[in-house]
Amino acid sequence: MKGELSDLYQEVVVDHGKRPRNFHKLEGATHKAEGLNPLCGDHLTLYIKLDGDVIQEVSFEGSGCAISKASASVMTGILKGKTKGEAEVLFDRFHAMVTKGPGGGELDLEALGKLAIFSGVWEFPTRVKCASLAWHTLHSALRGEGAPVSTE
Ligand code: ZN
Repeated sequence: MKGELSDLYQEVVVDHGKRPRNFHKLEGATHKAEGLNPLCGDHLTLYIKLDGDVIQEVSFEGSGCAISKASASVMTGILKGKTKGEAEVLFDRFHAMVTKGPGGGELDLEALGKLAIFSGVWEFPTRVKCASLAWHTLHSALRGEGAPVSTE
């Protein structure tokens, strides 16, 4: 990504990092998980309210760098109304994008929609953990695993 496009994407990340969406505790959450990225000091708690298989509400709280917050902010915005299965598919796609880069595998940036703003992250291995923290935490919350997730 070069030039204006990359500037725009960076703006979105900074904006979400400063003013994260869905940034609060969720009353009546059915699933919850904690995620830690000791390398950077990112720490977040993710709340999900499931109705059957559908994610009705999702929110998070915590502290961390702009990328970790922006990633959680964009992720929570996208997940509302999705099923658990759809969320797992997005998790796989996101993970492939930030670990293999846009050229790796059968990546469809269009299908990733808003998540594509993180496609430049794969070039910075230490930032990959920041960007994927919220997703690993989601994975754990949906599976109902009680132990905190750590990227280390
Ligand atoms: Zn971070």
